[in-house]
Amino acid sequence: MSNVAYERIKNNLEKLKLTKINEIIDNYLEIALKEETNIVDILDYLLDQETKFKDTRASEIQVNVAGFPYRKTLEDFEFEFQPSVDKRLVEELSTLRFVYNAENVVFLGPPGVGKTHLAIGLGITAAKNRHLTYYISCQDLISELNKAHFENQLQKKLKHYAKYKLLIIDEIGYLPMDIQGANLFFQLIAKRYEKCSTIFTSNKSFSQWGEVFSDNTIAAAILDRILHHATVVNIKGESYRLKDRKEYMSSRKEITNTLLNK
Ligand code: ADP
Ligand code: MG
Repeated sequence: MSNVAYERIKNNLEKLKLTKINEIIDNYLEIALKEETNIVDILDYLLDQETKFKDTRASEIQVNVAGFPYRKTLEDFEFEFQPSVDKRLVEELSTLRFVYNAENVVFLGPPGVGKTHLAIGLGITAAKNRHLTYYISCQDLISELNKAHFENQLQKKLKHYAKYKLLIIDEIGYLPMDIQGANLFFQLIAKRYEKCSTIFTSNKSFSQWGEVFSDNTIAAAILDRILHHATVVNIKGESYRLKDRKEYMSSRKEITNTLLNK
């Protein structure tokens, strides 16, 4: 290969942003030419490496912009510890059919049973599959909407949240919401209704949502839209945090006993 051609190839790879090919071409060509690999196989290998690299990078970017508070995957979830969670149902959800169908998922249950973990696990799966995903706690969402409303930017903000293929609204009901907050929440739900998927988590049963939203009528209107197309996962069980604590306490006890018996 002439120096001029080589220079042009390198320049064009840079111009076309074919980063991976640019990185591997020197070594690869040396081997490929020695082994007399045919041109079709060479092109196939190089383009395949570039595509895989770009796919992985795009997935990583989606996961990074989703704003997850921690990264736990569905594989990290111990189903044996939480038998009230149907593993097959979670596996079905992980196919992301609910995202394609613009359906919702609701995780209900007391603190520490894995609601946020499962929501994030599904969120990571969706983001890796290049669905625009965003995580936000209910409290942060309401304060963002309140702020936008105050600044006369509510429609713009609602449009912003409506663009996510999957929105995770975590911790509904941990803090009480005033009627203004409930109204703004309703507007967001109405905007996303039947267009995109939302995952909700709450420590409060649906019958308590009237209190959560400070108004039975708004709560009913919100629930009506959420539950029209939704999978509800009711988790009844012990807190995983407590399990960790129990294990810690018993191992501490063991160490103390060993030391005392010495
Ligand atoms: P919450 O139901 O309050 O949202 P989280 O999902 O935040 O609870 O779970 C609390 C902690 O326990 C997290 O670190 C989470 O990863 C872990 N956890 C909860 N349930 C399980 C489980 N079944 N297997 C593995 N880790 C779990
Ligand atoms: Mg949580």
